[in-house]
Amino acid sequence: MNTLGIALLAGLAGSTLAVTLYGAAAAPTEHGLDLAEMDRSVRPGDDFFAFADGNWVKTTPIPADRSSYSSFAILAEQASRRTADLIREAGSKPGGAGPEAAMVGDYYAAFMDEKGIEARGASPLKPELDAIAAIADPTALARYLGGELRADVDPLNNTNFHTDRLFGLWVSPDFDDPARNEAYLLQGGLGMPDRDYYLGTAERDRDLQARYRAHIAAVFTLGGFGDAAARAARVYDLELLIAKTHVSRADSLEVEKAHNRWPLSSFAERAPGLDWQAYFAAAGLAAQKDVMVWHPSATVGIAALVASQPLATWKDYLVFHALDRGSPFLSRPFVDEHFAFYGKALTGAVEQRERWKRAVDRTNDALGEMVGKLYVARYFPPQAKATAEAMVRNIIEAFRHRIDALAWMTPATRAKAKAKLDTLYVGIGYPDTWRDYKGLVVKRDDAFGNRERSELFDYRAALADLGRPVDPKRWRMTPQTVNAVNLPLQNALNFPAAILDRPFFDAATDAAQNYGGIGVVIGHEISHSFDDQGSLFDAQGRLANWWTPEDFAHFRAAADRLAKQYDAYEPLPGEHINGKLTLSENLADVAGLAAAFDGYRAANGGKEGPAAQGWSGDQRFFLSFAQIWRSAYRPQALHASLLTNGHAPGQYRVYTVRNLDAWYRAFDVQPGAKLYLAPAGRVLIW
Ligand SMILES: [Zn+2]
Repeated sequence: MNTLGIALLAGLAGSTLAVTLYGAAAAPTEHGLDLAEMDRSVRPGDDFFAFADGNWVKTTPIPADRSSYSSFAILAEQASRRTADLIREAGSKPGGAGPEAAMVGDYYAAFMDEKGIEARGASPLKPELDAIAAIADPTALARYLGGELRADVDPLNNTNFHTDRLFGLWVSPDFDDPARNEAYLLQGGLGMPDRDYYLGTAERDRDLQARYRAHIAAVFTLGGFGDAAARAARVYDLELLIAKTHVSRADSLEVEKAHNRWPLSSFAERAPGLDWQAYFAAAGLAAQKDVMVWHPSATVGIAALVASQPLATWKDYLVFHALDRGSPFLSRPFVDEHFAFYGKALTGAVEQRERWKRAVDRTNDALGEMVGKLYVARYFPPQAKATAEAMVRNIIEAFRHRIDALAWMTPATRAKAKAKLDTLYVGIGYPDTWRDYKGLVVKRDDAFGNRERSELFDYRAALADLGRPVDPKRWRMTPQTVNAVNLPLQNALNFPAAILDRPFFDAATDAAQNYGGIGVVIGHEISHSFDDQGSLFDAQGRLANWWTPEDFAHFRAAADRLAKQYDAYEPLPGEHINGKLTLSENLADVAGLAAAFDGYRAANGGKEGPAAQGWSGDQRFFLSFAQIWRSAYRPQALHASLLTNGHAPGQYRVYTVRNLDAWYRAFDVQPGAKLYLAPAGRVLIW
């Protein structure tokens, strides 16, 4: 259900933005549609993707280091280059361009100060290692564990479930009372990304497990600890026990299973073994009345391990993770060992990325909104924001009309859907109020300390939120990110500035093109708030299903027809799209396209927009839609996508047009054309 958070980008650009940065492809620089990328030898009704994008597919090679390529990927490369330039520029003139650019610049420069970093070796870690050495009893252990809790997970918006600390904290609106913030506690404690890495028994799994054990030993040796192999064995065995308490990724995604409110006073009884009073006091959570426990069984299991495993083992475990976590900010041997396992062994990366690129990423991680402010100042003028916001108003209005006209939804549910539309916040470009980094100390000669202070600063900011009312307009994605996110507990959407760019959006082009581009993306995301996923959260963001079983049955019936439509596509010989796997996203594509078309017409006084570049307004709308889904895959990537991706490949997302009557009119598509569907066969759920 959390595909809400992944947004539609995940389907194409992949999630590993870091390895895709700084490519050389250029985003289109001209205003208007990219007509040279069409293939006019194809009839639009036979293959609308080939008609609109055929020449692009023929003339655009997939870069050697990629398995697929797309409009999204090209735009992400552009945003990364811009972000990198802004950060490096800030780093090149100490204190020169104002206090914020100075902080960004100092963070970057500190990471780039290799000479200073080498000279300091592992010494920045000394205070932490001393503190671990001083742990003498279970209460002191609990206090240490509580003190290292950080706000480093986000299960619902950005679907980040991993932390190598024993637990992870997420501060977010309360499931039952979304006007207040609640503390959510998640399972953690593993160095590898998921419990399956520990529990897998295939050869590949066993190989990686052996490599991880070797990595743990190597880190102990680098840190100057004797008896490294024995320590590594103990630490690995402890993590294996922790992994066995964890629930699966699939279970973590079922938000209703996370709805477990535990009074703070009940932890000792429900999850004995960890001195919870000491833990919460050290974590700064002692004043909290209750905590939402996302993974109750793992919480019970992990707390029991704290008591049942020897204190000395726990201390080794803490030493290893302190060294391991700090490694990217320490001297060369630590950096190289970190890459050897987390880069090479775990992800198959061949070469470590250049230091300046890592510095850019680390700066972006730590000071995201501050970098975002610089990004917006240069690349997202107020006029662009105003234009996009006007589009949002028209698309929301289109949804309102569509909900009114829905035959399958019961009147009571329809009223609730409209209430949800009334309270929806759609953030465009960047937040109304920027995050305040006041109090964060960034030093130009302390890369390690900068990172520690930044994480602690984020954690304290999260704790401070616990005492404040929820701000539904709070952003959860930085403006320089090419993506979009649905925030169900805030009933809100964020569309960052970096995705509001060509070919998705251009304030200097016409409504037809913009609505066919980013307008469809906006409509797609809005529709997720009202589908089977969105039905779990009401107008205030409360976790409360507002659909009747009757609504659900009707929705399913219509949805089944769309699933069949996609099942019929065969991207590789013998391999079909899985209509069920991709259903939610395909539904959102149909809804988004329909609502955006209405919005575009509304922006033109209810009529067709003017012709331009030789194409009518309606034609431009659909051509623009096809342009944003330009994409090419290597066969292996296409194969993997068909098996696991909740989004259909770009080409088939373009075929969404078959369900809209307006597309048939715009291109005069008649029976006999390959994409033709008889009116009764077209699926329109919203
Ligand atoms: Zn989606």
